[in-house]
Amino acid sequence: MFSSIRTKFALTYFSVIAVVLILMNTYFLTASRDVIFSSKQAFIQSQASIITASLEDLFDVLTVDDVARVMDVLDVTGVSHIVIIDTSGDVIYGSDDNYMQSDFPDGLIARAMEGFDLFAGKFAGGSFSSSALAPVMSRGAAIGAVYVHEEDREQGTILMDMQTTLWNISVIVAGFSVAMVVIIIWSVMRRITGIFKAIKTVREGEYNYRVNVRGSDELALLGDEFNSLTDRLRETDEIRRSFVANASHELKTPLASIRLLSDSILQNEGIERETVQEFVSDIGIEAERLTRTTEKLMTLTRLDGNISDDKTRIDMKEAVNDTLRMLRPLAASLGLEIDSILSDGCFVLATGDSVHQVIFNLVENAIKYNKPNGKLTVKLVIEGDEVVLTVDDTGIGVPDADMPHIFDRFYRVDKARSRGAGGSGLGLSIVQDTVRELGGKVEAARLKGGGMRFQVRFALLAP
Ligand code: ADP
Repeated sequence: MFSSIRTKFALTYFSVIAVVLILMNTYFLTASRDVIFSSKQAFIQSQASIITASLEDLFDVLTVDDVARVMDVLDVTGVSHIVIIDTSGDVIYGSDDNYMQSDFPDGLIARAMEGFDLFAGKFAGGSFSSSALAPVMSRGAAIGAVYVHEEDREQGTILMDMQTTLWNISVIVAGFSVAMVVIIIWSVMRRITGIFKAIKTVREGEYNYRVNVRGSDELALLGDEFNSLTDRLRETDEIRRSFVANASHELKTPLASIRLLSDSILQNEGIERETVQEFVSDIGIEAERLTRTTEKLMTLTRLDGNISDDKTRIDMKEAVNDTLRMLRPLAASLGLEIDSILSDGCFVLATGDSVHQVIFNLVENAIKYNKPNGKLTVKLVIEGDEVVLTVDDTGIGVPDADMPHIFDRFYRVDKARSRGAGGSGLGLSIVQDTVRELGGKVEAARLKGGGMRFQVRFALLAP
């Protein structure tokens, strides 16, 4: 795959460079040559017409003497050879003796005799040679033809020099471009290979691996994004590991108690009926704890899967009253007083179950972690566009050091007390996950006189 990307890059770059260089070496030279030819044509044909104009309509037939006389007085400059022929193709004038015109085959001479102006140009051997053939007319008929030829080595040399210079520049540009392309591709591929290696390493479970892509371009950003992704993966993996470890520990403890209690009954032959009853009742308590813990685990799993989507309009006052009705007997059994100050019109968008989970866990905690003859206050008010639920208690509170952790899964400040009260360390994390799921927020604070305040905020739903 990599080699193919590299090949594609290289081929694309090299083709672009090749096209540019070829165009530079061919188009430019051809265009310059054409420009020179057209200026040559204009010049040489004008010279030819000076001669034909001087011979036209003076004679019926061209003779060597007549033509020589006219040519003596004519001033035609800038051409290499002038040849004049009569209608039968014989040379009757030559600017230099040995010159034999050869650019125009006989067929073309015949064409000139028909009255056409002809031009031929070529660039060969570093020289421009241009020839013009023009008819000499007399009373509507051609009586001969003028052949003018020019050989321009100077411009040819300039063009050849330009060609050599362009070629040298092309070789340098091509060499430089190839070197640049190789360097760029090599550096890009090296960085991509780095990221590729990091992906492989992380895939194998090495979540601490970091890819270090230098620079500030897209590849560097890709590297940064990859590192953040790896961080997320590591966090998720850690959460999953500790969750599994905690959950199995949580389930193992009651199971171990049940095992111990049942073994004790089985192994003690003369065990008293009263003791058996006590042990079996303990087994029942442990089984209940197991049930509660698994139920809470199920709730958390449901929250992870964002299941609560049939949200409706919930009257919080009604929900609090329903929950308090369920928990009053527990509070009464511990000699606790419950105060509730609940405003009307506190509507939120939620599900009945989720709101119940939140209120139940907070009030149950305020009861469980209270002091004998203590008090708890449940307040429900509207603040701006929020519904605020506050649960205050006069209980044992949470030490400062534990405050940041109380919403963690399975976290318990006083393990013995929590277990004694039937806790699993999952209540507050259920509250937090539920509140988040409903788009609200929850905060915990220590109260001055001891005890805790839990405050939940939900968006108010207009009545
Ligand atoms: P648990 O099932 O143990 O009650 P929670 O997640 O509900 O689990 O609470 C976590 C811990 O936070 C509890 O073990 C307890 O130590 C502490 N806690 C929660 N609510 C209160 C409160 N109102 N007063 C004092 N401590 C509390």
